[in-house]
Amino acid sequence: MESSPLRLRLDGAALVHNWKTLAAMSGTAACGAAVKADGYGLGAREVVRRLAAAGCRNFFVAHWSEARALADLGVQLSVLHGVRAEDMADRPDGARPVLNSPEQVRRWREAGGGVCDVMVDTGMNRLGVSVEDIAAGLLDGLAVETLMSHLACADEDSVLNERQRQRFAALRGRTGAPRMSLANSAGIALGSDYHFDLTRPGLALYGGIARREFANSIRQVVQPEAQVLQRRTVRAGESVGYNATFTAPTDMDVAILNIGYADGYLRCFSGKGRAWFDGVELPVLGRVSMDLVAVGVDAAPTLRESDWAALNYALPETAALSGLSQYELLTGLGARYQPVWSH
Ligand SMILES: *Cc1c(COP(=O)(O)O)cnc(C)c1O
Repeated sequence: MESSPLRLRLDGAALVHNWKTLAAMSGTAACGAAVKADGYGLGAREVVRRLAAAGCRNFFVAHWSEARALADLGVQLSVLHGVRAEDMADRPDGARPVLNSPEQVRRWREAGGGVCDVMVDTGMNRLGVSVEDIAAGLLDGLAVETLMSHLACADEDSVLNERQRQRFAALRGRTGAPRMSLANSAGIALGSDYHFDLTRPGLALYGGIARREFANSIRQVVQPEAQVLQRRTVRAGESVGYNATFTAPTDMDVAILNIGYADGYLRCFSGKGRAWFDGVELPVLGRVSMDLVAVGVDAAPTLRESDWAALNYALPETAALSGLSQYELLTGLGARYQPVWSH
């Protein structure tokens, strides 16, 4: 790959550490991995390769195109959005749908069925067949491998967690499914009653802190870095960037970094974000542009054109600063980064 002025440092050891931590927290349940949205923006192929080598056996994507892009890796893939009519013709080996509605179940049966997973709604009212549909025999005779449900509020201490868990647990033995799966990252921290046979973390694999229980065990995986395009001196009273929202109080040095809102570094970081060079903090000055951002560099006298600065992207802290969720911070990173994996 040609060299990009923008790179994403990815800590492969931290990724594997996070999966192993979540697998240990999952107790006797197997621990899978959600790798939809290109592995939450990190690059699904590299994530799957590393986690498969660490022992992960079940991977979750949203779309069939995502399953096709990973099919040659030879891992088991479940497609969370199930099957539309358009999906039936081109389904790679090793991938099965998570059927979400009576219509999808009917479509799957009519096509000859085969092994599938099924999502049941227990209170989120997003995707899934109903408990009543199951009681009425909707799944009878179907080769369901994993019966799943999804928690709406696992990252909070909500009464809905226990209500969903009870509704789900009541389905044990009511379908032919040998496995049941409820917990996402946050759900794993809710305790062993929530683990069933298989857990499905996403966010925490990639360094997200979904609940305080993870704060000391989950490690940061992602670090964006951008190259300096220009260093300049801004005179006192002059302004920086679009709409002149920052005015230099004194003569000051500014560096222009090769990153902008098209790279997921959104305008909410204007005047608020932080970069780092050589252990020195560099404040974002003025508006973030599409492809560029200005930082103050008086504290970094040696920084010059073509040096690399790291953007502060510690997920919980950056989410609080920006108002974006940790999920948005990861999945919004964009396509222009050169991924650089360590380990
Ligand atoms: C995305 C997703 C997950 C992973 O959730 P995280 O909160 O990222 O851990 C698990 N299950 C389903 C059904 C999902 O859509």
